[in-house]
Amino acid sequence: MLLEIKNLEVFFKSSQGVVKAVNGVDINIREGVTSAIVGESGSGKSVTSLAIMGLLEDSSIEKISGEINFDGKNLLELPEEELRKIRGNEISMIFQEPMTSLNPALKVGYQMSEVFIEHFNMDKKTAKEKSIEMIEKVEIQRAEEVYNSYPHELSGGMRQRIMIAMALSSNPKLLIADEPTTALDVTIQKEVLELMRKLKEDLNTSIIFITHDLAVVSDIADYVNVLYAGKVVERAKAEDIFANPLHPYTRGLLRAIPNAHKKVDELYTIRGSVPNPVDLKNECHFCDRCDEAMDICRTAFPEEVDIDGHKVSCYLYR
Ligand code: SF4
Repeated sequence: MLLEIKNLEVFFKSSQGVVKAVNGVDINIREGVTSAIVGESGSGKSVTSLAIMGLLEDSSIEKISGEINFDGKNLLELPEEELRKIRGNEISMIFQEPMTSLNPALKVGYQMSEVFIEHFNMDKKTAKEKSIEMIEKVEIQRAEEVYNSYPHELSGGMRQRIMIAMALSSNPKLLIADEPTTALDVTIQKEVLELMRKLKEDLNTSIIFITHDLAVVSDIADYVNVLYAGKVVERAKAEDIFANPLHPYTRGLLRAIPNAHKKVDELYTIRGSVPNPVDLKNECHFCDRCDEAMDICRTAFPEEVDIDGHKVSCYLYR
């Protein structure tokens, strides 16, 4: 197993009280596999990814516990210096909005070359050659021209391709992609997903694909973890999630995906909203929104049940 997250809890301080953002998350990521983490905003998916990267703001954390084992080392226990080496070399991350990661004042080529100079001690000429090679690898035409451009001169899709190229420059074992296509229009989104799929196969990099959109997942993920209010409520192979969703929340997410055969006024939405993370009770966190809720659902958070490798936390399967 490349990455094993065990019982991860992340709580933040706030003026309203303790925000329980991640409440005992278990996720396993195998080598060479794309695993999606799917959830609405506030589900804890981005906090989980920032915890893997060691990028959470220390001053705002009330508690962080559990294990994040990467290649046999618990990242939560590593000193910052060792973590910094892993981050950028072995684990890379791309975000929704590339402009937050690219410096608008510096040419794309300069920023790409810096990665090679810093991580691999390359001289400027070799770093430029490697950068152009990477730009070509992410299927951008006229690579030299793009190398000499400023980020604002490129389209959103091209900027995201550049971010992917930079993230893959160090040939990481794990790439964390946090909503990487959300800001792109549908056609460009498909192209970027297809590119990520191809690159994963070429480089054998494992990918954690974080998204609120289960529809996107079907194009890219081998395995799916559904997160709700800081807990994984269902995890299984992507084909099993789509063919036979077990948790009422996952079923709701699937029903809510628009498709060509549905009229707009028939679009389903899950009633209610996510519970307040300051006020989470020891019960199924979905019970106020669930049409199948029973008395037992309010007695404690349901234990995970394993049905032939398809795992679900719901009293319907006790
Ligand atoms: Fe619904 Fe109960 Fe299952 Fe929660 S445990 S999803 S409330 S049936």
